[in-house]
Amino acid sequence: MSLDGTYDDANIFALILQGKIPSTTLYEDADTLSFLDIMPQTRGHALVISKWSKARNLLDMEDEALAEVMATTKKVATAIRKALNPDGIQIAQFNGAPAGQTIFHLHVHILPRWEGDPKGFAAHGAGGKADPEALEALAQEIRAQF
Ligand code: AMP
Repeated sequence: MSLDGTYDDANIFALILQGKIPSTTLYEDADTLSFLDIMPQTRGHALVISKWSKARNLLDMEDEALAEVMATTKKVATAIRKALNPDGIQIAQFNGAPAGQTIFHLHVHILPRWEGDPKGFAAHGAGGKADPEALEALAQEIRAQF
């Protein structure tokens, strides 16, 4: 998929927002939702999305929605820092398939990083699909820091 296209109401993140598939919530407000990535690149890998914007990517997105998503990104990154004490936090966002985007509802990645760990993005996460119970336990640790 290129930078241009029509928003698909059945994309995975739209289905999460519609309550049709589960996610491990970290934080939610009227305009944004943050949840753990199911194929984490690092421990605590989180995503932030807008609840109302139908932007596929950054170039499509309303400035208001972008500001809301970034404010939530900062909140969640702060809670992750308190919970997991990483050495660094990477914020990433991909636009178009050639840039690595696979889900076409704008999302921001929050990746806690530790000294000495690999820095890249592995296909399908570092260890494949995470165990839902382990994700929920991790989410509890992070949620306790808001
Ligand atoms: P991107 O490559 O920027 O489009 O990232 C999409 C991200 O969504 C990847 O890191 C996937 O592991 C993640 N992902 C896919 N399906 C789900 C899901 N059901 N719940 C949470 N994260 C997901």
